Amino acid sequence: MDAVEKILAHKHVRPTAMRLLVYKFLAAKERAVTLTDIENAFVKSDRTTLYRTIKTFSENGIVHQIEDGTGVAKFALCEDGCNCDIENDLHLHFHCNVCNQTQCLTDRKIPQIKLPAGYKAIDVNLVVKGVCNTCNDN
Ligand SMILES: [Zn+2]
Ligand SMILES: [Zn+2]
Ligand SMILES: [Zn+2]
Repeated sequence: MDAVEKILAHKHVRPTAMRLLVYKFLAAKERAVTLTDIENAFVKSDRTTLYRTIKTFSENGIVHQIEDGTGVAKFALCEDGCNCDIENDLHLHFHCNVCNQTQCLTDRKIPQIKLPAGYKAIDVNLVVKGVCNTCNDN
């Protein structure tokens, strides 16, 4: 088994050829991708299959979905050992207003948020907007 097959197996996802390809595509990206980015990278593949692949990844803690305010959901690979647990695994995201890219700041964890009694968090999306290090160079 190669490394990616092991990661998928560990997350209880059967490593089909399509899943391995999509995982490797995501791993090669430093920024979060949209479903359209994935479709454009795999033009010969069935869109439904690609959508289901991302859905499976998302349900099994292989990718997480990011709402960066652009109205289009983006996806990025989870870190090793991530369970997408609100209390322990969530990190900050950065959206660059110049290049329109969104990236994970995985070493910037979101501190635990204490909600008032009777409130239950299901998802947290913390996105910082500004200018990324690449765009800031010029
Ligand atoms: Zn995760
Ligand atoms: Zn930028
Ligand atoms: Zn992220």
